[in-house]
Amino acid sequence: MPEVRKDIVSGRWVITGTKNVDDFLSSLKPEEKDIKKCPFCPGNEQLTRPEIYALRENPTPANTPGWSLRVIPAITGFLKIEGNLYRRGVGMYDAMDNIGAHEIIVESAEHIKNISDLSTEQIKKVLNVYKERIIDLEKDKRLKYCLIFKNQRPKSSYRVGHTHSQLVGLSATPKAIKDELANARQYYGYKERCLFCDIVNQEKLDKKRIIEENNDYLAFVPYAARFAFETWVIPKIHNPDFSQEKESSLGNLAQILKNSLQRIVKFLNDPALTYAFHTMPYLRPRPGYWHTVQKDYHWHLEICPQVTEVSGFEWGSGFQIQPLVPETCAQLLRETTI
Ligand SMILES: [Zn+2]
Ligand SMILES: [Zn+2]
Ligand SMILES: [Zn+2]
Repeated sequence: MPEVRKDIVSGRWVITGTKNVDDFLSSLKPEEKDIKKCPFCPGNEQLTRPEIYALRENPTPANTPGWSLRVIPAITGFLKIEGNLYRRGVGMYDAMDNIGAHEIIVESAEHIKNISDLSTEQIKKVLNVYKERIIDLEKDKRLKYCLIFKNQRPKSSYRVGHTHSQLVGLSATPKAIKDELANARQYYGYKERCLFCDIVNQEKLDKKRIIEENNDYLAFVPYAARFAFETWVIPKIHNPDFSQEKESSLGNLAQILKNSLQRIVKFLNDPALTYAFHTMPYLRPRPGYWHTVQKDYHWHLEICPQVTEVSGFEWGSGFQIQPLVPETCAQLLRETTI
């Protein structure tokens, strides 16, 4: 039975016990290169659990072809939606049940591997569905945070090569977000300005880490990027909540996301990459619970190509070694023709 345990030293939550030993050991072995039937292709809907949501131009029955975008529960999810949190103390430690949502967003009916190969119009639909799912899950009072992310594998990978992203609705705000919220709140506390709005202004002034910008968004390599070619996309106008992003600007977001990913795919020859939307937590009535985020937080998208391995020094110290200076990464991506 999986459970969520708190690492009392670092404050991190760990979802533990999601596999039995046999499944774990077989997951270490290389899988068949070709998955015979793609579970995300139209016609194979019976290979997934019943859909949560689907975009259909013409009304066709649920779980049948005719959709252009489909949201399904994760096939082997590490969270379950039914049940109570059952928060408990275990001696000096804290634990709770693995309650949460874990969904797959199949971004296209076509068997295309990379999201950046979809049309800007289709990517805009994907972004709209991200927003809708975040808003829908807010109704579930057990959830505190909704994280949208993607793991994109290289060409050589054996995994399902059909573009999809994932959503997890969590009963605790992730530590990575909490750290950002705390820093942003502290910064606002003494400067009375949003930390991220200031970053946008600084980057526009410095120019050398900017990859691309349009009327609504900026794509840049952060000043202290943790990974080579790490790229952030951020709205130029203050907005803490991705799900409140205006319909009128989503086309520009789709375009800058497509371009940013295309640059990375082209320059690094289709590397493994991840992205994650960092947005504000759900506001829950709890004393002192991030109630200042409307002013001091600012959503952004972090894209990280997985091109270097983490060394023992990095694990042990929390320092990170990034072989290329961010200004060089930005220049190389900026000059990549797409
Ligand atoms: Zn497919
Ligand atoms: Zn801001
Ligand atoms: Zn972030």
